[in-house]
This record gives sequence, C-alpha cells and structure tokens, in this order.
Amino acid sequence: MDSLLADPGVDALVDRYGRETVKRSLRNAVDRARRATDGNGARDPASLLAAAEDDLVTRARPSLTSVINGTGVVLHTNLGRAPLAPEAIAAQTRAAGYGNVELSLETGARGSRYDHCAELICELTGAEAAVVTNNNAAAVSLVVNELAREREVLVSRGELVEIGGTFRIPDVITRSGSRLREVGTTNRTRVGDYASALGAESGLILRVHPSNYRVEGFVERPTVEDLAALAASANVAFAHDVGSGLLSKELLPGFPEEPTVRGSLRGGAGLVTFSGDKLLGGPQAGIIAGASDLVKRLKGNPLLRAFRVDKTTLAALEATLMLYRDPELASRRIPTLRMLRESLVSVESRARTALPHVSAAGVEIEVARTGAVVGGGAFPGFEVESAAWVVKGVDPEPLALAARRQARPLLGRIVDGAFTIDLRTIAAGDETEAARILSACIGAVRDE
Ligand SMILES: *Cc1c(COP(=O)(O)O)cnc(C)c1O
Repeated sequence: MDSLLADPGVDALVDRYGRETVKRSLRNAVDRARRATDGNGARDPASLLAAAEDDLVTRARPSLTSVINGTGVVLHTNLGRAPLAPEAIAAQTRAAGYGNVELSLETGARGSRYDHCAELICELTGAEAAVVTNNNAAAVSLVVNELAREREVLVSRGELVEIGGTFRIPDVITRSGSRLREVGTTNRTRVGDYASALGAESGLILRVHPSNYRVEGFVERPTVEDLAALAASANVAFAHDVGSGLLSKELLPGFPEEPTVRGSLRGGAGLVTFSGDKLLGGPQAGIIAGASDLVKRLKGNPLLRAFRVDKTTLAALEATLMLYRDPELASRRIPTLRMLRESLVSVESRARTALPHVSAAGVEIEVARTGAVVGGGAFPGFEVESAAWVVKGVDPEPLALAARRQARPLLGRIVDGAFTIDLRTIAAGDETEAARILSACIGAVRDE
C-alpha cells in the first residue's frame, strides 16, 4: 500500500479526489486483486492504479447530470423544465460568488433581494409591482395566505386542478390557512355563481388556468374583466394563476389561446402568478405581478422568507427577462421559445444531416414525422409537428435502458414499438453527440 501511494501517478489523483478517498479506492483494488488470484497472484502497480482510478471516477459521478432530451417534450418536468439561455447561465455563474443580493450599492445600506427583477417584470407585464418566490406553487400559497387567511377563496369547480402530482388547488388553499368555496360546475361557471357565493367570509376570488387539461363541449366561464369588476364591487381581492408565464401571444405564433400575464393584468387582475421555468423559459421561480398595495402586503408576510428565491435564480431570471425587451432576441436566445418556433423544415433537415453519424450496420433508422408537445402542463393536446429518428428492428426497452445508462444519457420515447429520438428538443449542435450515443447504445444492445 505504501509503495502504491508513493507512485508518482498517485499525486494527481490525491490532488483531485483527496488522500483518504484515493487510499480507500486503492485498498479496494488490492482486495479485489487478492480475491481474484487467491491471494498469491501477480499484482502489478499499474493495473492496481488503473482499477483504483476507475473506482474513483465512478464514485465521483454526480447523481444529477446533463442529459440529451430526445423525448420531444419541450418543458419536461422530469428533465428540469426549461433549459436556460446562455445569458442566464452566465449570469447564474457570476452570481454564485459574492453579489449585491441585499445591498444597495448607492447607499451602502441594506437593500432587498426582491428589487432586482421587479422593475423588469413591471416593464414587461405592465404591473405596478412584483415579487419573486422559489416557484409558482409558493407564489399561489403566499397570495392565498396573505389575502384570505381564515377566510374564503372562491374558485370555479372547473379550475380545481392538480398540477404535477402534488399541487392540488383545494389542498393548497386549505394548507394556506383558507377555506375553499367552490363555485359553479365543472364545465360551466358564470359571474352570477361567483356573485351569489360572495359574502362576509370572502377574502379572494382565485382564477386558475387549467393548464394541463381541457374541457370541451358545453363550456362557459366568465372573462377576467367580468371577474375583476365583480371583485372590485365586492371589495374582494382577485388573483389569476396563469401558470405558464407567456408574456405575449406574438412569441408563439400559431399556438392555441393561452392567457398572457399582461392581458390578465390589463383585464383587471389584482395579482397574476406564474412560473419562471415554463413558457417564460427561465429558471425555477414563481413570479407575482400586480397592484403595488397587494405586493406590499405579500412582502410583509413571514412566509415569503420561507419561499425565498436564491441569488443564482434571481440572476438567471433577470438575464432571461432582459432578453424579452426585444421579442425577436427572446425568440432567438431563449431555448424554450426557439425550440417551439423552429420550423419543421429545419428540424427535419437537422435530423437528416446528422443521421449518417449514427453508425449501426444492419439496423434501419428512418427519419419520421412526429408530434412534439410543449409539456409542463401548457397547451394540453396540442402537438407541434416534428421529426425524429426511429430505430427499427431493435427491442426498444433494452435500447432505452442502454441510452439512459450512457455517461451522457439520451432520453427518447417508445412509439409504436420503436425507440424514437425527437430532434425538436435536441439543441442545434447536439445532434452529432446524440447520434454517437445512439450508435453506442445500439451496439451495446446487439452485443448482449
Ligand atoms: C405549473 C403550475 C403551477 C405550479 O407552478 P410551479 O412553478 O411548478 O410551482 C401552479 N399553477 C398553475 C396553473 C400551473 O400551471
């Protein structure tokens, strides 16, 4: 052991992994070699060192790692939703060190972390004031807790949604210290239903965008304007959880109707809440924009401290929002928008250009039309025409498993019994790497 530790090759390992860790891996390598040779075989230092290094590399592999998204789901919650714009990644890295998070550089006195993005949010949405939390679930909880604690929140029965398995509007309202007052029916709720539910106990009218499902047929619900007018006449607050955070319809031409933040505020919502990492294309965050008196109350609520947004998130959010000052720049630089807007011709051409890099002799891979989806609960049922590599004649389950086990995992979908890699969600420039990984997986599955 001592002679192994004295080997000149060990110093670099110790520098990188630490002496105790290196010792443990060496000891494991020696033990394994002893067992393999019944205690008396040859154990040359070079192969022991190599075995120890393999062990070190494996143990140092992070649990959370970068993957290639070939699923065709743009905002894939399991894959971290929105990939950040380069500007946001740079800002996040800068903010990782010391920064003026809660310091006014003008006065040298204490500042507020909530000031950093607020002006930009107001500029982009038309709001008077804004505050940022660590996600939209926190934003909704904060709004309900502040505006309707121990009082009633009126929600249409058609909007009592569950989002992502654990965020259920009725539960959020109860846990935030309020009582749910259901209004109307699943498919039809009218202003009159809200009016008759209003009373001395009412604290808030909450409209929730049913982002991840659609009721079709005999459906009716009041406009934001109608609800705003009713809430104002009853002197009750009105908040709109729009979910996705689309800043303007022009950003996604040809997509179905989706409420925009500005539209909802203009329609009279006192507060609008939305996610940072859905259609906005930024980091995980919750944004609350609206009337300054209401935002001021939220800032005084102690729960805001528990929902506090991190400095690197704020930096990434600010950089993302800055891109929106020029919508053309936003649609070019923000990956979520770029992926959703890329023409079918362009996706298909990327699929064809990179296909020769998939070397899989005897296996047929074709470029086929698919339907990508927005994901993240936005635009349910809506498909964006896309193009994919479809691997024919290889058992898809083992292939998908092999692809997940690569050093950089490649995620695809199994469609009609074939492993399918959608190119819309693979960034331009990553196709060749995806092709190389796919080749390795096909090889691995065939060798088994
Ligand atoms: C996604 C969503 C939420 C939850 O937002 P997170 O940022 O995931 O916490 C809340 N409400 C609506 C309408 C949503 O679509």
